[in-house]
Amino acid sequence: MTILSNDPAQFADEALRGFVDAYSDQVALVPGGVIRAQPTPAGKVAVIVGGGSGHYPAFCGLVGEGFADGAVVGNVFTSPSAADAVSVARSASSGAGVVMLTGNYAGDVMNFTLAQRQLASEGIDTRYVLVTDDIASAPVGQESLRRGIAGDLTVFKVAAAAAEAGYDVDAVEAVALRANAWTRTLGVAFDGCTLPGADAPLFTVPAGSMGIGVGIHGEPGIGEVAMPTARELAATLVERVLAEAPIDGAARAAVVLNGLGRTKYEELFVVWATVAPLLREAGITIVQPDIGELVTSLDMAGCSLTLTWLDEELESLWTSPSAAPAYRKGAITAPRPTTSSSPREPVTPPSSTALGPKSGDAGSIPGRPTPRSRDHAARIVAALETATQAVTASEAYLGQLDAIAGDGDHGRGMVRGLNAALHAAREALGQGAGASDLLARAGQAWATKAGGTSGVLWGAMLEASGNALGDDAKAWERWDADPLEVVVSAVAAAIDAMQTLGKASVGDKTMLDALVPFHDALAGAVGHQTDVSTAWNAAATTATQAASATASLRPRLGRARPLAERSVGSADPGAVSLALIATVVSHASSNIPPAPHPEEKP
Ligand code: ADP
Ligand code: MG
Repeated sequence: MTILSNDPAQFADEALRGFVDAYSDQVALVPGGVIRAQPTPAGKVAVIVGGGSGHYPAFCGLVGEGFADGAVVGNVFTSPSAADAVSVARSASSGAGVVMLTGNYAGDVMNFTLAQRQLASEGIDTRYVLVTDDIASAPVGQESLRRGIAGDLTVFKVAAAAAEAGYDVDAVEAVALRANAWTRTLGVAFDGCTLPGADAPLFTVPAGSMGIGVGIHGEPGIGEVAMPTARELAATLVERVLAEAPIDGAARAAVVLNGLGRTKYEELFVVWATVAPLLREAGITIVQPDIGELVTSLDMAGCSLTLTWLDEELESLWTSPSAAPAYRKGAITAPRPTTSSSPREPVTPPSSTALGPKSGDAGSIPGRPTPRSRDHAARIVAALETATQAVTASEAYLGQLDAIAGDGDHGRGMVRGLNAALHAAREALGQGAGASDLLARAGQAWATKAGGTSGVLWGAMLEASGNALGDDAKAWERWDADPLEVVVSAVAAAIDAMQTLGKASVGDKTMLDALVPFHDALAGAVGHQTDVSTAWNAAATTATQAASATASLRPRLGRARPLAERSVGSADPGAVSLALIATVVSHASSNIPPAPHPEEKP
């Protein structure tokens, strides 16, 4: 159990506050995460690591001299938002470029890719490197699909050391890619982990067995075997990791025996006592091994073995000193002067194109929304209220669905995102925003506050459908000509945004498998004198059936992919929540379209 919390929803924020207070001489809080307390020296590439919380010392504990320049800190097991990544990278950048590194997870990939694009548009040369070390999560030949687990540590360290040594952004990226290509990890679990506030673990391991091939987000293993002795476990880990050696024969390697949160150091040393001689017998020279908790999964009982094969250059980067709060190595002297733990001033973007809700210009409404558009905006707020209530009531169920093959955070993420969207939408409405602008602001708030895969996708969907609607008089000409066609085009824009970001196809077992049938049903009603409300109701029923039908599919994308078989028989959580929202919104807004304002014919 994760036992201690105040408000579970605030767990990650409160943990971060405590961390920054404790290490205020080394790190400073910025919106979206932490950076080093001392500014990045001019000419030094800034290395930014990141991901969700629940993995300490990864990732904020790795920010400090010799290691990372900043960490983007998401909620528990949830990718931080693109806006968070931009904020941290911008604050740490000294003008010599930025290299961002995360594990390979759909939410991180989408959010950090968006961030990379945004930073590039601001003139910050930004590279993004994914860690794909988990040999259990995809077979040989499909290495690029693999998850990032404890190999994060070695790859991040090598990249950060290269930046510290003065490499330019190309060279830092190159060593990070090479380190990743030469890193292999296998993890096992003896017991699952529990999200703060939850009363049950995300998965359990039957008594007397061990889950093999586990992730670091409470994803269960890909298989179960009888519980081995420490010696047998060591042999299994060594054998399987060496079977995937990227370099044949004798070699030098950084080796990490990582505890996942609830495995005692002494237990790890018992395992290491067999791991080390086995590796040596196989011709591996062990270079500065790490045995301990480095990339954890809340309170999971388990461990993993990582090897990063080293050439001379990687070895010198792996062994170079570090004085990060949670990763000390070699001798970096000069303790930092104590600074205050109060947040650093965020670095403001050079233009208004930055990601995230634009609180600074909240009062300015782009274009000139017509009264009818504001009328629609009010209906969208009502629909968001209804959606928020319905999803909040289903939060636990959505979390359970997500825990079957994913990480159990879908309900929580959706509630967080909807609340943020609703808050932003109400604010926009109060400032006289039209429907299009309001949806864009709600989408930005959703993506920024929720993070994760569903957060970034829902944010993009809302923004795209808002753009498709438009707020001006032209938009009303289209609406008056055929309101259903306008709604269909807004849903089509949402699909487009989702696929551009997430690259999913129908049948991959994602939200798209509810959204596309929803769109097709709506589109099929165009030209049949059906009003929007009737067509929407029928399409929502279709979406609900389609969401249920995802139970027979195997996930080909997202966190659930490595456990595809386990997911067969239960519906995709993202598809279920999307259909739920379509259904309740339909009932709440059954009087769409609004009566035209008599005084205002475009
Ligand atoms: P995370 O996977 O980051 O934990 P959530 O649990 O909130 O995020 O959302 C999971 C849902 O996201 C899945 O059930 C699926 O519907 C959706 N999803 C995952 N990857 C994609 C993708 N590439 N495109 C569309 N939807 C996706
Ligand atoms: Mg999830």
